[in-house]
Amino acid sequence: MTSIIKVAVSGAGGRMGREVVKMVLGDEQLQLVAAIDPGQEGVDAGTLVGVGTCGVTVASDLATALLESGADVLVDFTIPQVAAWNTKIAIQSGVRPVVGTTGFTREEIDMLDKLAEERKIGGIIAPNFSIGAILMMKFAAQAAKYFPHVEIIEYHGDQKLDAPSGTAVKTAEWISEVREEFRQGNPSEEEKIQGSRGGYYDGFRIHSVRLPGVFAQQEVIFGGFGQTLKVRHDSYDRAGYMPGVNTAVKKVMELTGVVYGFEQFIE
Ligand code: NAP
Repeated sequence: MTSIIKVAVSGAGGRMGREVVKMVLGDEQLQLVAAIDPGQEGVDAGTLVGVGTCGVTVASDLATALLESGADVLVDFTIPQVAAWNTKIAIQSGVRPVVGTTGFTREEIDMLDKLAEERKIGGIIAPNFSIGAILMMKFAAQAAKYFPHVEIIEYHGDQKLDAPSGTAVKTAEWISEVREEFRQGNPSEEEKIQGSRGGYYDGFRIHSVRLPGVFAQQEVIFGGFGQTLKVRHDSYDRAGYMPGVNTAVKKVMELTGVVYGFEQFIE
């Protein structure tokens, strides 16, 4: 029988954190032992996410909560300004971090990896836990070997601050690894309205659509002689990230050192 994994959730009151609390409470192989979010201190974590009391009170201090709860794993969906610090505290406390918060620098990841190796525990930092989105990127990179003419269109809500999305950039990087660089389209092409051909990346284009009502979607279109191929992924809800987070919580128990990118676990 596999032993129960004790999970602490940092950022438990946030949009992603609430989904994680629900996911943990709904999996009998996992046990929620701590929830941390200064803005929700004193509230029952189950009540917070709308599934009834669970007996875990939201705390404000991470180090104390990890120490008192005996957590095996910390899942962090907080804010970029605190996530690296939280991850460091977790590793120093002997708790394996599973981090979805974005914005880590290469230096921070290397430092945390070193720390985890020293403590002989694992960690996972992944800017995208959506299994479907990662498969879409992998399929696109596979297709690019045979269809080098490609354009990426990504769709997000109108309040998103950055363009193109991190997923679109990652897709472009993976495509570039297998596609010999050349500039697509007519060499005499002229933009009548600036930006109408999208962002330029290694000879192909990325287009960012921003509209209210959209959550996260991406389409990679390949063109060949007499045919097109489209690889598309649609996210409708934050719950879509939870199968990936659940897998990471279980996988991290077997690791030593910090793995960056959830794609490392998808063959
Ligand atoms: P959010 O709704 O703003 O949630 C962040 C939560 O963290 C808030 O409740 C915030 O509390 C809390 N918080 C702030 N400082 C904290 C601290 N020191 N300790 C504990 N909790 C703290 O954001 P979100 O939409 O859930 O996103 C969270 C992060 O996940 C972002 O970086 C986002 O880009 C990323 N993300 C990753 C994935 C993925 O697949 N990896 C998917 C979606 C989002 P206050 O509101 O009181 O400050």
